This record gives sequence, structure tokens and C-alpha cells, in this order.
Amino acid sequence: MDRRCAFCGRARHEVRKLVAGPSVYICDRCIAACKQLLSEDRRVFPLAGPRPPRPSDLADRLDEYVIGQEHAKRILTVAVYNHMKRVAARGFAGEVELTKGNILLMGPPGTGKTHLARTLARILEVPFAIADATPLTQAGYVGEDVESIVSKLLRAAGNDAERAGKGIIYLDEVDKLARRVGHDRDESGEGVQQGLLKILEGKRVQVRLGGDRATGLGSEIVEVDTTNILFIAGGAFEGLARQIAQRKKGSCAGFRAGEDRPPDRTFEGLKEALPEDLHKFGFLPEFVGRFPVIVALDALDEPVLVRILTEPKDALVRQYQRLFALEGAALEFTEEALLEIAHRALSRGTGARGLRSVLEELLLDAMFELPSAGGGTWRVDEEAVKQNHVERVEKGRTAA
Ligand code: ADP
Repeated sequence: MDRRCAFCGRARHEVRKLVAGPSVYICDRCIAACKQLLSEDRRVFPLAGPRPPRPSDLADRLDEYVIGQEHAKRILTVAVYNHMKRVAARGFAGEVELTKGNILLMGPPGTGKTHLARTLARILEVPFAIADATPLTQAGYVGEDVESIVSKLLRAAGNDAERAGKGIIYLDEVDKLARRVGHDRDESGEGVQQGLLKILEGKRVQVRLGGDRATGLGSEIVEVDTTNILFIAGGAFEGLARQIAQRKKGSCAGFRAGEDRPPDRTFEGLKEALPEDLHKFGFLPEFVGRFPVIVALDALDEPVLVRILTEPKDALVRQYQRLFALEGAALEFTEEALLEIAHRALSRGTGARGLRSVLEELLLDAMFELPSAGGGTWRVDEEAVKQNHVERVEKGRTAA
């Protein structure tokens, strides 16, 4: 057999040493070159464990599922990269202590806050749990306690406490925890903020695993270290933009959440939110301090909604087309129809979330007939959207 280096092609007599693998050889020069390459990589990222995905790579992956929100993507991917670097750097003596960079996402409903957090967790292959902040109550009150959030993550991690400790928790409707002036029950919002500090600060929490939830019988207590759990909190923060505008005008009046004020549907000003604004809005300074990364999402307009309908890997239009194809039928949309669908969804005030319900209603009759129609082509044009009814335009089977 010809004994040559599989990397540079040099023959045995041209090199000092040829090391044999199961079916190939590598020469001493190529081994030295590989060693150099590896040490260069180590110089750039000299920490334990695999290198976390770079922000630009993360953003490329996010682009497959999340349309627009470029600014939010940039901030999020850098925050996640730094978080993972911090986790990898733990235990390295003499380092400057790196504090956790939990993230606060602000923006109107349906702009993709949950979607961004969920997609990030999916790309990073870490456990992910969504918890709603509204049912949380202070310890000792009826309702869910803050530990229940960690137990959700533990379940998502297949009850593996170590995996759960590296997961992501999305805390929805966090703005509802703001303390509102003159509302007694809002004492509890502030109490929940206090309760959440425990897990935001990275304490160890005891959570109950399995068993009867009401009685606690048959359950096991598991300890989860929350130090490396990344928290992403989201909310619409309605009213905050107006309060920021007041601050910028130099007025000290401002508004606190829940006070009487004109409805505020402009979220643009959120981009200029400072920690002080959140404090004034009704959050404890310690709580705000635990969210050093604050991101305001862009409101969605019709052209962006059309892109959301068609471009992501799991885009709704693609999903319905697949459902039709499985019945041997084709489903087509005109550009005008897509714009009209986006327009209708937008008027519901629920952002991109409205798209699915608009499509469900629109395609209901067609999907009712589909299984017995024997294939064909169904075309959605502007008129069909206005009439909320889609007709079959061509008979016959189409390839699935
Ligand atoms: P929010 O948490 O801001 O209220 P969601 O993340 O729940 O909104 O968004 C609702 C749905 O809309 C998501 O499940 C997703 O399918 C879609 N969506 C929202 N924003 C985007 C976006 N920028 N790109 C792709 N899909 C989006």
C-alpha cells in the first residue's frame, strides 16, 4: 500500500514521521500545522468547553425563523454569547467577575418576543420554559409561587437539574408586576418582584419533582442552581413610552402604570428606556438591576407581516400549502391577498399573532371541502380575503 500523508500527500521518504490511522496516514508536518491551528483557536477562546456560537452565526440561524427585528437580534445574540462565555469562564481564578446579563424585551403584543426567546433556546439546544408573570404571587398567597417557574424548566430538561441549570426562562407579561399607585393588590406585584430576585440573583432553589401537586405526596425535592439560567422577560409596557416622552420634555410629572391617562399605542419611545424609567414605572431598582440588557422591539407593519407569512422555515403560508399538498391539492396566494391578510391581522391589534386566526377563518370552508374534493387548485386572491371564502379554481389531483 502507498504510504502517504492523507493531508499533504507527501510520501513516507519525504517526511520524518508518518502516523497511521485505521486506513490513512498523517505526517509530522501536518500534525504540527494542526497543533498550531488548535492553539490559535485556544488563544481566541481560552476557556473550558466548546466555543459558544458566535453572535453572527446565531443571528444567521435566527434569520431563518424570525423576520426583521435586526436591532433586537444583534443585542440578543451578543447578550447570549456573553452569557455563555461567562458560564464557560466560571471557576477561572483571578478573572474579573462577570455578572449575568438577563434580558428585558419590550414591545407590542405579537411582535415576536416569545418567538425570539424560544427560537434562541432551540438553536442553542438548551431547555426552555415559558412562565406567565401574572399568576405568580408572593409566598404564602394562593397562586403559583416563583419556584414553579424553575420546576417548569426542570420538566423541560427531562428532570435533569444540571441541564435545567443551563436553560432559558421566558417570563411573559412582566410589565404586569409593576406596582401601581392606589391599587392595593399591587403590593403583591412588588412582592413577586422580590420573590423573583431570589432566582434572578442565582440562588439555589428547591423544587418539587412529580408526585401529587396538591398534597406533595410521592414527590421528590430537587435542588436547581439558578446561577447560569438566562432570564428573558417580556412585556408590552404600555404607557412607558409616554412616560419617557415626559421625561425627555423635562417634566417631572410622568405616569405610573395604571394611572388614568390617554391610551398609548405608540411604542417607538421605548427604544430610549433607561433603568430609571422602569423604576418610575413601578419596578424595584434591584429588579431592574437584574436586567442589564433592555431591548425594544419594532412594531410590525403590513410588508413585514407579509414576509412573516411567507419567509420563515415554518411560515404559515408554507404550513397551509403543505396541509393542502397532503390532500393532493395546491394552495396559491396572490401578492394582494397576502397584503390584505396582513392588513386584517394588523387591525386586530395582536401583531403577527393575528395572522393564524385570519388564515384559519379564511381557509375554513376550503379545508372542510378539501378531503372530499379530490385535489385541485385553490387560489386566494384579494377578493377571497375580503369575502372570507376561498374557491377551488381547478379540478384534478396535484402532486403532494
Ligand atoms: P409576543 O411574545 O411579542 O407577544 P409572539 O412571539 O408570541 O409575540 O408572536 C406570535 C407569533 O407571531 C409567533 O409565534 C410567530 O409565529 C409570529 N411572529 C411574531 N413576530 C415574528 C417575526 N418577527 N418573525 C417571524 N414570526 C413572527
